[in-house]
Formats: sequence, C-alpha cells, structure tokens
Amino acid sequence: MNAVMEQNITVRECLQNGIRFLKASGVPEARISAEYLLAYLLKQPRVFLYVESSAQLGPELQDEYQRLLDRRARRVPVQYLVGTVPFRNTTLHVGPGCLIPRPETEILADVVLRTLGPEPIRVLDVGTGSGNIAVSLAVERPAWHVVATDVSRSALRYAEQNAIENGVENRVRFVHTDLWAHVQTDAFDGFISNPPYLNERELAALEPEVSFEPEEALWGSSDGLYFYRKMISGVREVLRPGGTVFLEVGFDQADPVSDLLRTGGFQRISAVRDYAGVKRVVSAQLKEVSRG
Ligand code: GLN
Repeated sequence: MNAVMEQNITVRECLQNGIRFLKASGVPEARISAEYLLAYLLKQPRVFLYVESSAQLGPELQDEYQRLLDRRARRVPVQYLVGTVPFRNTTLHVGPGCLIPRPETEILADVVLRTLGPEPIRVLDVGTGSGNIAVSLAVERPAWHVVATDVSRSALRYAEQNAIENGVENRVRFVHTDLWAHVQTDAFDGFISNPPYLNERELAALEPEVSFEPEEALWGSSDGLYFYRKMISGVREVLRPGGTVFLEVGFDQADPVSDLLRTGGFQRISAVRDYAGVKRVVSAQLKEVSRG
C-alpha cells in the first residue's frame, strides 16, 4: 500500500499527479487525458477541476483514478475509458467494438444536412458504427427517416442505444447486414458512408490507441479504396436517380473517389475540406436515367 495514497489530497494535486504519470508513460497530450479521466470519475465537467481545485479527494477515489491512468498509459483510448464521446449535438456511447467517431465525420454530417434540407426524405447510412451519423442526422432533421446498417453486431448495439438515448429510435431503423443487403428499399434520397479506408501501410503506422478499435472499421484493402469501388458500382440498387451520395474519404482519396463517381454515372461531384485543409467529404448526384 502506497502511503501517499492514504490521505486526502486536493483536486489540483490529484490532477497534477495524473498529468505527471501520463507524461512519464509517454502518453501524448497527457493533460487532456488526465483531465477527462478525473472529471469522469468525479461526474463533473472538466472546468470543475479548475474552479474547485481545492476540493479534497479521498484515497479510494485516488486509487480508482490510478487504475484509469494505468489503462490510459497502456494507450487505451480515453473515449473507451470514459465510455462516451460528443458528436455534433449528441453524446454517444462508445466502447471496444465500435469505431470512435472522429471530428472530421461531423463535417460529413454537416454537408449532408446543408445539401438535403429539412423536407421529409429517406437516407441510408452504410457502416453506421456507433450510429454517430444516423443519430445526429435524425436529431437535426426531425422529418427524415434514416436506415443504418453495419456488419458488426457489437457496433449496432451501441448504435441502437445511442438512438434511444437521443430520442430518435422511431426514425432510425438499424439493419445488421453487409453494406445494404437486406435493406429492401431502393429509393433513398441520400446515401452516406464513412467506410473503412486505410490501406495496409497506413494501418501499420497508426497510433497505439487505434489498435484498440475494430480493424474491420478501418481496413479498406491494399489501396484503401475497396469499399468506394463496391459502393459506387452498386449504389443504384438503393439510391434513386437524382439522389446524392456523401462519402468521407482518406487524405489522398478525394481524386480517385471522384473519378470513380464520374465514370459511375454521377454528376455535380464536389469535395469539402476538413479542419486541416484535406479534401475529406466527396458528394455527387446520381444522374437521372435518360431513356430512348
Ligand atoms: N459511421 C461510423 C463513423 O463514421 C463508423 C465508420 C466505420 O466504422 N468505418 O464513425
């Protein structure tokens, strides 16, 4: 038993200990992790750590904090440790078994919302993971109906819970399937996906945190483009003529994906950049079929 842990210490001291420990363990952005974990334990927002920095913390809480810090030092993502992540207007449950939603994906949702407007429509989210896209679209567009698929049952469990907790379970239907097999609807107005898009080299070079996330949510074949080829060549099965596809892409994939769309019968192909200036979201409209 560590003698230091037997007495009360202040929030400030506890946080400083946590930061020091994570820094010494080589965790990047140690302060942010240390703050999130302590705030989570105290069931308080992070700002509490600073406005109530003289509050006293007992040994039990310090022990619990140390257990979380130990896992963080082994590079478990902080979002898995606290169990939630903010995404647009929602708070989502996440854990091992579903990809942690990334800030770039908020831009994908934003492009969808700006392009399609508030009228009642039906959209399909393929590879929904935690349900981040499907749930936030349903929250922000009360007239929309969303169908969301995933091949992973464990991801869908998070997604279903997230839909319920955000009050949109009546407008989001989840289907456990590969891509859109078994979806049984062929006239969606919008098709959205943030598919796995990393190639082998990128997958090998990731931060240790990512190894805790499901590989099936990340790996897009040797060139990273597998799912784009598959989706763009087959999307007519579910998207109505004149409907729009919205795809998140890897840092160097906007051009090849735009080419696939052009040769696949799409028009009005455009790309939106992320916070780092990378072309991150590609959208395009499926041409109306001309008969004759
Ligand atoms: N749709 C989820 C997201 O955008 C999951 C994506 C995935 O697993 N590739 O985060």
